[in-house]
Amino acid sequence: MTVRVLLKSKGDSGEVISVAPETTVEELAGVLVRYRIGAAMVRDSQGIVKGLISERDVIHGIAEHGKGTTQLPVSQFMTKEVVTCSPDDTIDSVMETMTTRRFRHVPVMEGGSLVGVISIGDVVKYRIEQTEREAQHLREYITA
Ligand code: AMP
Repeated sequence: MTVRVLLKSKGDSGEVISVAPETTVEELAGVLVRYRIGAAMVRDSQGIVKGLISERDVIHGIAEHGKGTTQLPVSQFMTKEVVTCSPDDTIDSVMETMTTRRFRHVPVMEGGSLVGVISIGDVVKYRIEQTEREAQHLREYITA
């Protein structure tokens, strides 16, 4: 299955939760809680992707700068070299990227535009459904 099919099955409108580089870590925390997500894209006023900031970056920030971290801009903690995928990539290849690179979010880019984000939660949900489908087919085969 491809990333495109997974994004469609999520019923995504294509909207990706994003914050500006100057957003404070405290404001970011509000966004992550409000949307129940673990990471946000960082984009400038033109919509250009500048980085990705996840809960883990916030934890690293606090470990380094203490509670003052909350008033610092996310641009100070985000990852700038973001690994992305294409809608035509397979879920298996995205899963492999997440496993080998040890992160849980992969933005999806098409024609230079951000069209979605795949999280490890999406991948796990897909794998569970796939396993259940296979088990059902096997049960039907055995009882037929
Ligand atoms: P995560 O496991 O996704 O919460 O992120 C763990 C670390 O990897 C954080 O420093 C993130 O900023 C970084 N990270 C997450 N996703 C990506 C990605 N697609 N490309 C590059 N770095 C990422």
